[in-house]
Amino acid sequence: MTDSLARVPWYPLVFPLFYGALAVFGLLMARHLRVFAAARPVRPFTGARLRTAALVRYALVQSRMFRDRRAGVMHYAVFAAFVFLSVGVASAVTAGLVEAVLAAPLDGAIWAALLFFRNVAAVAALAGIAWFLVRRVVARPARLTLSRSGVAILLLIGGIVAADLGALAYEAALYGPLPGAVITNAVGSALAGVDTAVLEALFASHWWAHIAFVAAFLVWLPTTKHLHVVTSFFNVYLRKLEPRGALPEMDLEAEDATYGLRTLADLAWKDVLDGYTCTECGRCQDACPAHVTGKPLNPKALVMGIRHAADAAERGLPLIPNSPDVRARGGPLDDRLAPASVAIALVPAVISEDAVWDCVTCGACVEACPVLIEHVDKIVGIRRNLVLEESRFPAELAPAFRAMESARNPWGQPKSARLDWAKGLPFDVPVAADVARAGDLAAIEVLYWVGCAAAFDERNRRVARAFVTCLDAAGVRFAVLGQEEACTGDPARRMGNEYVFQLLAAENVETLKRYAPPRIVTACPHCFNTIANEYPQLGGTFKVTHHSSFLAELLREGRLATLVGPDGAAARRITFHDACYLARYNGVVAAPRDVLGAIAGLELTEMDRHGRQAFCCGAGGGRMWMEESRGTRINSERARQALATGAEAVAVGCPFCMTMLGDGLAADPANEAGVTTLDLAEILAPVAVEGPSARRSGRELPVLQ
Ligand code: SF4
Ligand code: SF4
Repeated sequence: MTDSLARVPWYPLVFPLFYGALAVFGLLMARHLRVFAAARPVRPFTGARLRTAALVRYALVQSRMFRDRRAGVMHYAVFAAFVFLSVGVASAVTAGLVEAVLAAPLDGAIWAALLFFRNVAAVAALAGIAWFLVRRVVARPARLTLSRSGVAILLLIGGIVAADLGALAYEAALYGPLPGAVITNAVGSALAGVDTAVLEALFASHWWAHIAFVAAFLVWLPTTKHLHVVTSFFNVYLRKLEPRGALPEMDLEAEDATYGLRTLADLAWKDVLDGYTCTECGRCQDACPAHVTGKPLNPKALVMGIRHAADAAERGLPLIPNSPDVRARGGPLDDRLAPASVAIALVPAVISEDAVWDCVTCGACVEACPVLIEHVDKIVGIRRNLVLEESRFPAELAPAFRAMESARNPWGQPKSARLDWAKGLPFDVPVAADVARAGDLAAIEVLYWVGCAAAFDERNRRVARAFVTCLDAAGVRFAVLGQEEACTGDPARRMGNEYVFQLLAAENVETLKRYAPPRIVTACPHCFNTIANEYPQLGGTFKVTHHSSFLAELLREGRLATLVGPDGAAARRITFHDACYLARYNGVVAAPRDVLGAIAGLELTEMDRHGRQAFCCGAGGGRMWMEESRGTRINSERARQALATGAEAVAVGCPFCMTMLGDGLAADPANEAGVTTLDLAEILAPVAVEGPSARRSGRELPVLQ
């Protein structure tokens, strides 16, 4: 035993106190695991290297916490104190073994360094805890939940830290400075004149208070939101590694399967782990456009709801299950979850039906969450169940579902109109089938995936025309599918209609495989995301590029140039609205700005929320086809944010953003200047000219029929 521990009166009592608490902690955690066992299994976790990197970035460095810098610093101080104090506790409950091991090399320098950091982190943590308490109790920002247990556990953590500092200071006052403990040594020397008996009593009381608070924390932790100090490491390591824009696969042929998520038992155990990991920080709530505009949806409430449902399912279970012997003699199966709790429907117990349909699947919640909780997959999972098993969905969706199934596009337009947008162009738009018949398929560089919006929506047809004008200027040998193109199925999938999605996706995969284009380019981030990230689930793996990236590439390679000087673009202040499925889901942030940056005279000004943190336009998740009857309009909020930049135009890279934001701007009474939306291709096309590297040689492609 170390000298330090030998000074503690009744030291051996530490063993029953601490290990008893640890046993209770273990039993409570094991009871949680019984809920995990009742949930659906998860595919084996692969990708150890990526997972370890995520663990370092998100759990150890806590990079997302620092987006709110002050909260991040305070949180990190408490985390650091937790780590360094744990080393002290580990030594205290092993009769000094940990200290002996760590002090052996380098003549005690490691232990001294740990004491130094333990001192510094503890003082910083006390400041952090005070700040957290003031925030929760006095300032009370809407995103934080004020609960009595939350405040009590903060006080308990404060008690653990303060008692440790006190014990070290009184020990220094009694027995001299401890190597490395600079802060408590200074306090100790200031107490040098105090009566020894008093100091001994204070040392003993603080040392025991520290251990007793730690024991209380262990017993209490599994039933509080602070359980995230344990679960967040697992949650981050077990994060979704599939592309973020890919919704979970679904086997429509599976026998006896529940379609989507109906009850707690339909959740995967990783979903339950998400529930146990939520820190209740409310970052997702603040980022959610539906919540911000006053709709019932709150992603934080969804995750907390899952946790409460899991708690209800295990309520009443004894800590120690009956042994197999007892059960064999007919004893109760008391290790089973309460069946009624497991069978409770997630709608409305965890989330209201209105809230389920409020989601625009923008992913802002997922992007904001410091512990990598996945909200969107759960919401779409619940939609799948409502649509496929119960036929419960907003009435406005029925025509869109029917149109996608029969006409292969949500507008219900005939496929013969798919190429109307190209009429009257001064050059030909080749169709893949004609190119193949002429034996020229190998010469095609890119297949331009037009998308239903650009094919049928009058405003977006102008974008298609502008984009092929840029392609033509650069001498790009491209083709389109024409009547063979169908909706990718993105809106159907996100509205929960997996049946229609798989129908459309299978057809498209077959068509695309037939032409095997070296690259697909599309101006629609939804088409881009679905073909790139979701078609591989159906056996179709294609190289897909968003038109912003492709245009930036053409400019970079010198195949496309822009007019400059007095003939170039008029000097304009412009802002760019990042589409969720482009920036947040697929990380395409720089390319649109590169395109705008290549145009002389344009001045880019950013909205407060841009890039991966951009605010949604309100169209995603099938919301384009639904009424927005609850709260205020999301597109109006985004239009307000765009107008606040003072920009003369809002550049977009998505047909749905074009429509939603255009409508929002048009309806805003503050928009006296008539600010409107323009696609990147529309801004570039008027000033785009053939660059020195344009490839204009080779055989002419067949003319569009
Ligand atoms: S995906 Fe967007 S709308 Fe849906 S819950 Fe998350 S933040 Fe809210
Ligand atoms: S889900 Fe994530 S972001 Fe939302 S409250 Fe919980 S921890 Fe915070």
